[in-house]
Amino acid sequence: MNVKFPILMYHQVSDESHPNFMEYTVTTRAFATQMKILKMLDFTPITFDDLINCKNGESSLPGRPIIITFDDGLKDALEKAVPILEDYSFKAVFYITVGYVGKPSTWMIPDVNVALDIADWSAIRELDAKGFEVGAHSVSHPHMDQIPADICYAEMFESRRELEETLGHEVKHMAYPHGGFNETVRNLAYEAGYSTAATCIPVLATLDDDMLKLPRLNVGMEDTIMNFVSKLYIAQSPAEALETKLNVVRKMIPKTVERFVKRHFYNNNSN
Ligand SMILES: [Zn+2]
Repeated sequence: MNVKFPILMYHQVSDESHPNFMEYTVTTRAFATQMKILKMLDFTPITFDDLINCKNGESSLPGRPIIITFDDGLKDALEKAVPILEDYSFKAVFYITVGYVGKPSTWMIPDVNVALDIADWSAIRELDAKGFEVGAHSVSHPHMDQIPADICYAEMFESRRELEETLGHEVKHMAYPHGGFNETVRNLAYEAGYSTAATCIPVLATLDDDMLKLPRLNVGMEDTIMNFVSKLYIAQSPAEALETKLNVVRKMIPKTVERFVKRHFYNNNSN
């Protein structure tokens, strides 16, 4: 059976969200809840290196694989998400926009009028040393499908080279900025030496996918627990998906609510 699995796309993890960036922000608390749900549902986070090993037949996928990714290298995502991921021993992937390391993300201003702090090199080295996978996200965050091929190639090649020099090992994975790609861009990613490249096409992934056009599911402020669980199971039948959601709700309901329900609806006064 060809397993379908989610690749999640996060950007900002912060308790101070900008109204224009809520689609790409989750609170620290929501992120912690989402990781708890993944644990509860027996998902095993893997990296793109793991995925390529499985694709090449060198290993096999775990029962319920998932890939957790973060775009841009935002400082607060590193600070808030990493400790939670470590609590669960979850692997994750961070795509870095290398031209903005240690600076504000001013490329966002024309679109959303927001500039957020990007982590500095020492934080990225530390992330890599902790075993998180570090991938490239271009130098200057352009729409790669809207720029000349030579500039697009340079964006891919230079970001990879700078990460490799800084980290001292190969970097084989990238995410297209803004999810912008076409066949030419995809082929340039191959020529620039990447094994995988992630898009923003919101479907589940499979091992049969073109590894340079991998789909991803965005997670943002609009994702209630139900929406989040739905995203993990969009390949299931509606009945299976409903049952999964109900199980999550049952497990998440605090004991106090249970007691309240017993007391008021079943006349049971015991605690
Ligand atoms: Zn980005």
